[in-house]
Amino acid sequence: MIAHIIAVGSELLTPYRQDTNSREIARILMDMGIKVGSISVVPDNDEEIARVIKSALGRGQLIIITGGLGPTADDRTREGISKALKLNLEFNEEIHQWIKERFRQLTKKEPPDNLARMAFVPQGAEIIHNTVGTAPGLWLEVEGKDLRVLALPGPPAEWRPMLEALKDRLKSLGKKNIVRRVLRIAGLREAEVEDRISPFITGVKNPSVIILASPEDVQLHILATSKDLEEAGALVNSMVEKFREVLGDNIYSFEDEPLEKVVGDLLRQKGKTLAVAESCSGGLLSHRITNIPGSSDYFLLGTITYSNEAKVKVLGVNPRDLEEHGAVSEPVAKQMAEGVRKLAGSDFGIGITGIAGPGGGTPEKPVGLVYIALSWEGGTEVHRKRFSGNRLQIKTYSTSHALDMLRRRLI
Ligand code: ATP
Ligand code: MG
Repeated sequence: MIAHIIAVGSELLTPYRQDTNSREIARILMDMGIKVGSISVVPDNDEEIARVIKSALGRGQLIIITGGLGPTADDRTREGISKALKLNLEFNEEIHQWIKERFRQLTKKEPPDNLARMAFVPQGAEIIHNTVGTAPGLWLEVEGKDLRVLALPGPPAEWRPMLEALKDRLKSLGKKNIVRRVLRIAGLREAEVEDRISPFITGVKNPSVIILASPEDVQLHILATSKDLEEAGALVNSMVEKFREVLGDNIYSFEDEPLEKVVGDLLRQKGKTLAVAESCSGGLLSHRITNIPGSSDYFLLGTITYSNEAKVKVLGVNPRDLEEHGAVSEPVAKQMAEGVRKLAGSDFGIGITGIAGPGGGTPEKPVGLVYIALSWEGGTEVHRKRFSGNRLQIKTYSTSHALDMLRRRLI
């Protein structure tokens, strides 16, 4: 089964709102063994909606639409479906009553007249109940056209439970036995990972392997299908074993967990604590660490010591080193890590100082130069790294590298 996802909303074609529904739905479908053939973003316009639906006609496919099911005149999904499939919109009094009642419950107000728009249903459509908002979803199986259409409201909080309720139905359209694993890798670039694994994946279709790189990490998405689950699982496992051999400790998670979670678990397991001193990463490292529930078990202190004065006053960095070597230097990173470790009384201290750009670079200290230090009972190690990208990318690379230094010290 091939699915086409359509995100409806004129605002999604402006720089102010992004279509995140499609990506999320694509992921859910993928896990069900349904391949996504296309993703379209269209304005609130019947003709445009109809055009995309029609392009999938007669190809034995599934269309999932989000948005445009609300009560206002610019919500055009019902009309788009009706136009594309030449189905009349029929008024359904039962749904109208339900929508009005629901509106009263949710708002404690009398329902406006335009709610009636939501009770017009394309001929033959099944209503999918909305347990959160008012707009009902629609499921259509078009006879003789071998096409299924699912229309869902735009807000994620509304469509997520609806899709969940349809899980079994959708699964029955997908490949039956599918196993998916995501390996996460730190300390290697995308090209290095590709180089090492290419002997195992060239020409191999099942399992399929996708490499995804971001400033956070490199991920390997492995997906196998087979006649039974066990066999699909075995295909994935044997690929994972090959990857383990060539990637070793660089794989930090076999379960698609973020680096900050893996490091947090290691700290908790070993009963160790952490404090961090950040300059160029501006708190991103503390943010990532504290995104993990229960991080208070091991995370004691995060400082954003941006000015030289703060580095001296808060962390005890030697002013002479700042003057002689500059804030972005090995001795300063080292003293930041050691200083914050001492200040917090933690087992580990991390210091990050660098030039996130886009300005402020010099030939000796270019944009992207970052010193990252890890201090522990037995000493302090400092890495000098040169990352490329924009400001946020350089901040992200720096924090991932810092977390990975700590991970390697803990394993
Ligand atoms: P409603 O009854 O809430 O009007 P609707 O089906 O008409 O439902 P829209 O008006 O298109 O939905 O969208 C409502 C809200 O849902 C948007 O303001 C936005 O916050 C969210 N939303 C819609 N489409 C998307 C999308 N593709 N990605 C992310 N969020 C979306
Ligand atoms: Mg709307």
